[in-house]
Amino acid sequence: MERTFKVLRFDPEKDKKPYLQEYQVPARDGMTVLEGLFYIQRRLDPSLAFRFSCRGSVCGSCAMNINGRNRLACETQVSSLRGVIKARPLGHFKVLRDLVVDLDDFWEKYKRVRPSLIPSSPPPEKERLQTPEERGGIGDTVDCILCANCHGSCTVTGTDREYLGPAALLKTDRFLRDSRDGAGDERLRIVDGVHGIWRCHTILSCQEVCPKELSPTSSIMEIRKRVVKKRGSDGR
Ligand code: SF4
Repeated sequence: MERTFKVLRFDPEKDKKPYLQEYQVPARDGMTVLEGLFYIQRRLDPSLAFRFSCRGSVCGSCAMNINGRNRLACETQVSSLRGVIKARPLGHFKVLRDLVVDLDDFWEKYKRVRPSLIPSSPPPEKERLQTPEERGGIGDTVDCILCANCHGSCTVTGTDREYLGPAALLKTDRFLRDSRDGAGDERLRIVDGVHGIWRCHTILSCQEVCPKELSPTSSIMEIRKRVVKKRGSDGR
């Protein structure tokens, strides 16, 4: 059975504005949208540009908007979508070409929250140990694959270019929960501002599109509680 794909095309070097291009793709059982895009690129139109890598929902490279919702193309079954399959680039990012967006802004925000362990003690001889309970406290926040689906669906990132965004704030929560980390105060200072945790409108669009079923909104709420508690203990 053939399925109709409509893919947003845009080459800034020759197109004045983006346009939807239609392709007919022979669908088979188990076919994903990413495989449909491969078919288009290899059989119909080698000029089509999109990102991919692992093809197994691990790398997050193929994040895009499919039929109005941000998803990973590699895990979205063609059979799960009704009617025409529309693939567009993630919102709120500059389009470099077709479905490929410029993620520099996403990575810059990510770097700003210092997304790695900052221990307060010198390195031990072997390794920093955690009890199962301490590890449990981190929860599933480690599962983020940095696909940027949440950033691209957040209504605030679309209007406030300085907003740190859901993925960076979830990462802050991840390290605040880590018993091995010693930079809690600095982490709170980085995100405690009008372009940080207080900017979230709790619309929950981030958690609706997360392929790992994470909730950056819940992380943001947890950080807010920590900040308020800290202000109290500092007498502010
Ligand atoms: Fe992707 Fe979810 Fe991580 Fe956001 S929180 S970057 S949607 S995996």
